Amino acid sequence: MSNEQSILSIPISPETHKDVWVYAEVRHDNLIPTVFELLFLGKKLAADLNEKLCAVIIGKNVSQHAQTLIDHGADKVYAIEHDHLEQFVDETYAKLLTDLLLKEKPNKLLLPASTIGRSFGSRVAVQANTGITADATELSINKEKGGLLNATRPSFGGTLMATILCVRGHRPETATVRPMTFPRATPEPGRKGDVVKVPVDLSGFKPRERHIRFEPEVSQEIDISQATIIISGGYGVGGANGFNALHDLAKTLGGAVGASRRAVDSGWISYRHQIGLTGRVVRPKLYIAAGISGQIQHLAGMNSAETIVCINKDPEAPLMKLATLSVQGDLFEILPAINKELQKCGFGAK
Ligand SMILES: Cc1cc2nc3c(=O)[nH]c(=O)nc-3n(C[C@H](O)[C@H](O)[C@H](O)COP(=O)(O)OP(=O)(O)OC[C@H]3O[C@@H](n4cnc5c(N)ncnc54)[C@H](O)[C@@H]3O)c2cc1C
Repeated sequence: MSNEQSILSIPISPETHKDVWVYAEVRHDNLIPTVFELLFLGKKLAADLNEKLCAVIIGKNVSQHAQTLIDHGADKVYAIEHDHLEQFVDETYAKLLTDLLLKEKPNKLLLPASTIGRSFGSRVAVQANTGITADATELSINKEKGGLLNATRPSFGGTLMATILCVRGHRPETATVRPMTFPRATPEPGRKGDVVKVPVDLSGFKPRERHIRFEPEVSQEIDISQATIIISGGYGVGGANGFNALHDLAKTLGGAVGASRRAVDSGWISYRHQIGLTGRVVRPKLYIAAGISGQIQHLAGMNSAETIVCINKDPEAPLMKLATLSVQGDLFEILPAINKELQKCGFGAK
């Protein structure tokens, strides 16, 4: 039966759809960190609904991760496992997940707002004839509306937060969740849960896409999403060379270099360094912002940092008011001075 046929024939009733599901994305044989954030969030939503938390995982040899998912809160793990699923192919993964959704009828489905989750989540939602909120940053259960999912996300360039509800009668209510927005679930080693191995039948299925090869990005730099310390520069650095002072300090501290969109749009540094609404979301222990005013779209990417240090000439800049420590002055004097003192204390020595 094709997906189109199954959509039309499935009886949709919210009463028959139970449990909160999270899609546990595996990349290069490992669960991506956002999975643990989804488990933290999913556990809370499931507890509010008095339902189970289930994880679904797709790939080759992926059931090896089932116990980790259970340790982090999943009550049940569905493993869709096959040698042909080693590489992510949007259409194939979407078909398999949609088939399982239509069979098991979960109430809610959360996916990471990663490149894969965004692409494949929307395809799954269309095939399952349900609604999806992309890139949600707050999620809760709306008890007044019978347990619907309140999925909130920034709209109109981050100036407004919109809460989106899925029309009644369409399940599972689906959302992709912005990475680094929620804490990670704490493990409880040895927790008990069920593992369901889902049979995979791809006979007669002819995807139009195929995986050719994977080419990793080659870079010596620490990636901002992995860094515990980020030195970030904005339009105040004045040009590509202005980032040298930030790279020097990042090297001393073992940190990564981030940037505002204005610096990226000016062509001074590549997009992979951009932090914010249309860049990446980071949650480092220390975020040093130099020459960044702190507009709302930038804050959307870094305001969960544990400690924020802002260096700016202008004491009225919004980030100067939000920072844990605000330093008024010229970044080209302050950054080298900090770097020099740290090096004197032995930081950055090989
Ligand atoms: C839909 C949409 C999405 C967006 N997404 C993003 C996003 O993902 N990320 C993002 O960052 N922005 C984003 N923006 C842009 C955002 O609104 C701001 O324009 C941008 O963040 C400003 O960058 P900035 O702080 O570097 O520049 P500015 O606002 O120009 O600030 C530069 C700061 O540097 C200070 N300064 C200058 N010289 C020095 C010096 N020598 N020493 C110390 N301080 C100095 C100035 O006082 C000033 O505060 C988005 C906007 C829209 C509309």
